This record gives sequence, C-alpha cells and structure tokens, in this order.
Amino acid sequence: MTHTYMANGFDPQSRPELEPEDLALLDRRQRVLGAANRLFYQRPVRVVRGSGVLLYDAAGNDYLDAYNNVPVVGHGNPRVAQAVGDQLRVLNTHTRYLTDDVVAYAERLTALFRHPLSQVMFACSGSEAVDLALRVAAHVTGRNGIIVSAHAYHGTTRATAEVSPSLGGNNPIPAHVALVDMPDPLRDDPATAAADFERRIDDAVRLLEARGHAPGALLLDSVLSSDGLRPAPTAFLERAAAAIRRAGGLYIADEVQAGFGRTGAQWWGFAHYPVEPDMVVLGKPMGNGMPISAVIGRPDVFDRFGRDVRYFNTFAAGSAAVAAATAVLDELEERDLLASATKVGGRLASELRAITADDPRVAEVRATGLFLAVEIVAPGPDRAADAGLARQIVNGMRDRRVLISASGQNENVLKIRPPLVFAEEHIDRLCAAFADALAATARPA
Ligand code: PMP
Repeated sequence: MTHTYMANGFDPQSRPELEPEDLALLDRRQRVLGAANRLFYQRPVRVVRGSGVLLYDAAGNDYLDAYNNVPVVGHGNPRVAQAVGDQLRVLNTHTRYLTDDVVAYAERLTALFRHPLSQVMFACSGSEAVDLALRVAAHVTGRNGIIVSAHAYHGTTRATAEVSPSLGGNNPIPAHVALVDMPDPLRDDPATAAADFERRIDDAVRLLEARGHAPGALLLDSVLSSDGLRPAPTAFLERAAAAIRRAGGLYIADEVQAGFGRTGAQWWGFAHYPVEPDMVVLGKPMGNGMPISAVIGRPDVFDRFGRDVRYFNTFAAGSAAVAAATAVLDELEERDLLASATKVGGRLASELRAITADDPRVAEVRATGLFLAVEIVAPGPDRAADAGLARQIVNGMRDRRVLISASGQNENVLKIRPPLVFAEEHIDRLCAAFADALAATARPA
C-alpha cells in the first residue's frame, strides 16, 4: 500500500504534548472514530467555541483561524444562527411543497450568474453536487469520460472519489477518468504554458477515446486548490473549455473552494476569465456550516436530465439550510466582503512577500483574493518541494495559535484561506506567527 496523502495530518502513532484531558479525549476519539477520521497538526487543537475569525480552547486561549472557508461570514455568526433558529421553530421541510423561501433564494443565487446559467439543483454537500453534475453531463452528452487535474479533489462519494487523484495511490482512478497536469507557474515556460496545457487536454481526450470512453466532462476546481492553488497564469481556462467542447463534452467549474467571493471582487473564481462553464458546482461556504450545495446550469441541460431522470434529495435546500444560505448572502453583500477579500488578501500577500523576499526556501507567494499559497522549497536551482519544512511551519504556527495548513501534490504549499471576515487588523498576527515559525526552523547556511 502506498502513502495515503494528507498534508498536515496528525500521526496517530505519536504521543503529542497535550493537556491530560485533551490526551484522554484523543484516545477516546481514536477508539470510537477509527483510522478514517484524521486530525490536523502534530499537536491536535481542541476547540470549544468560535467567534468571527477566532476559535477558542477550553482555557479561553484564542486561535486565529486562517484556514477555514466554510464559516465564510465568521464562526458563530449571529445573523446565521438567528435565521436558522427562527426558521426551525416555524417550518423545516423539503422541496416537494410550494414554499417561498427556496424560490426566492434560487432567484437570488442564479442572478449572480450570467445568462444562460439560470437554473439551480440543490444538494447537501460538495460531493453530492459534483456527483450530480457528472450524472447530468453523462446523461446529456451520452459520454462517460471525465478529465480532471492531476491532483484534483472533488469529493467523497464513489463517483467523486474516482475523480480525486489527490486521495492517493490506494484510491483507484478508473479508465473513464484522465488526469492532466495543470500549468505550474514556478516551472513552466510562460511563453508556451497555455498552448502546452491545451495540448495536454487534447492528449487526455485522445486517451479516453482510445480507452473507449468518449469525454463527457472536463471538471476543474477554478483555483486548483488541491493542486497547490494555481490561479490561472495564462488563458488556460478558456483554452481548456474550448478543447472539451470541441471533443463533445461539457466544462464543469467546481466552485466549492473558489465560490462565494473567496477570490475577491467576483462571486466565482471562473468569473475572472472570459469563460462560461456549462455547469457550476457550489458548496462549502454556501450555508456557513449548514449543509447546502448546488449545481447551477442552463435550462436546456437541466430540462433534459429533469425530464428523463427523477431527482429528489431529502435534505437538500430544506428550509433551515435555505435560511442560513440567505443570511450568508446578506452578510457577504452588506459587509462588502468580496471587496474586502481583494483588499485584505492583497495586503496579506504583499506582507508575506516582503517577509520572505530574501529567503530562498520560499519560492513564491500566490494569492487570489483571500486564498493564499506559500510554496516551500529546498534552496537551490531545482527548487525541489520541501514538505518537511512546510509541515514544520504549519505546526510552528499552530504552536503560536495561528491555524493554517498545507496542500499540493508534494505537500509543500502552505494553504492560507481564512473566513472572509478576516480583516486588516488580523494580518500582523498571522505574519508575526509565520515569521517566527520560519525563523525557528534551521535556516540553511
Ligand atoms: N470539490 C472541491 C474542490 C472541494 O474542495 C471539496 C471539499 N474539500 C469537495 C468538492 C467536496 O465537498 P464536500 O466535502 O462538501 O463533500
């Protein structure tokens, strides 16, 4: 069995330095939750409450949360809590009755997309929504081949795990799935990167056809988060969408990570490019922690599926989840959090670049809105990935009570993706913890 990937995973064989009661909880957890439920950090963090961008432990210590995108409008958001609580007392039902709330929310949500993306199908998790989008694509194209990025993550159902090579070598990728290396801003030749990438998509199309699986979908996370955050350096998204359409397939934008303002200024990651997906998948931050997800699509695509195949999802867009999702849109809009993501993310990126400008171990700081990646390498011309150092920094920051993580094919990319209520006043604390953690690692002579 090969290594099962999870950057920043706690090693269950180790005995971390924790308070005795936290160690006791860890033991109970391992006994009852087993091996599949992995923890973060060498010293797992035990939290008891959250507020805004802060998480608190039982002793009242605060942790700056620079990792979690689900509580997009803040941990313990009072408006979301109020909306959900009020709704639960009145009515919490499914979508087989005529109710106002789900229609009003669907109208408001689809208005955030350009024509002809004007309809929505709801689900409960990102995985379910990706799974549904793949079913719709296969149904309307009559083709089951799927192209994804080489280190993609798209979910946990059987169909979505099959398009998630980042789950590692023990998670089989079947013959109807082809993997494509994404553009690498650090190592590609900028003059040819877009054309090279387009060629790789065309090769994947031919590979699928040779295997007897005509391509029905190109599924891409718009910020390529599990690939180590690689916001498109060139016109690659446009070229990729054109290539899959030439081959008779649909382009599905997975916005589970990128959506709801994460990338700053725009609601959706793909909206930074002159490209129109055929379907868009939304999840994670949509309900600020209440499970709700969606596929946005064109009426012609959805009509065909909806007429031919029945779709009902018991909990999807239940009244309480819709109340949460509505409150999330209210908060994002009224607090101007899309503009804030651009401003705060931009300043955070500049500060991190300034701190690391003369450090050969930091190859690059990449940012799109409030999603930042710091690529950690071994000094030298090869700039080889240094996962060990990335892990030390992540854990060093955790010991300083600032929470980030790591990602990427080589587990060497620091992942900084705070709730969007992360403000300028939090930048100094994050940067100080980062600088201290980096300084505490042995710098090469
Ligand atoms: N797509 C992407 C890009 C994701 O990051 C994730 C979750 N990490 C999913 C899909 C699956 O979402 P969920 O965990 O809600 O099923």
